[in-house]
Amino acid sequence: MEHRIEKIKKQLHSHSYKLTPQREATVRVLLEREDDHLSAEDVYLLVKEKSPEIGLATVYRTLELLSELKIVDKINFGDGVSRYDLRKEGAKHFHHHLVCIECGSVEEIENDLLGEVEQIVENDWGFEVKDHRLTFHGICRQCQKAAAAEKEDVQKAT
Ligand SMILES: [Zn+2]
Ligand SMILES: [Zn+2]
Ligand SMILES: [Zn+2]
Repeated sequence: MEHRIEKIKKQLHSHSYKLTPQREATVRVLLEREDDHLSAEDVYLLVKEKSPEIGLATVYRTLELLSELKIVDKINFGDGVSRYDLRKEGAKHFHHHLVCIECGSVEEIENDLLGEVEQIVENDWGFEVKDHRLTFHGICRQCQKAAAAEKEDVQKAT
């Protein structure tokens, strides 16, 4: 975790921003909960547990700054809530998401699967790809299993 903090500190410095204690508290929460997709309010509540003096506006401004600097990505899974997602170390583009329409779970695909698509977009549209968002909506493994088990039970019962 410390080397990630150090790296983010450098990224801020290179844009003439400081890693203030308030900003650091926010960054730490994002690192601790890297697998989650937290809203500004979620982040705020977690920051508050350790640093009750930090307000929602400060957390919000920090998140906006981090997303401007591409340290975090802002994403919306269609529920109208903006979520903040730490960019993976060394990743050039934003990772992909698998959102389950049954249970709401979110899985991540870290490998960039879009290399070929990016090439087509660049060649055929002359468009220089800088980033992308890719979210698949569907049914996760667990929900598929649960549905299959339920079906089996119904068949046994009849
Ligand atoms: Zn993610
Ligand atoms: Zn890509
Ligand atoms: Zn599911």
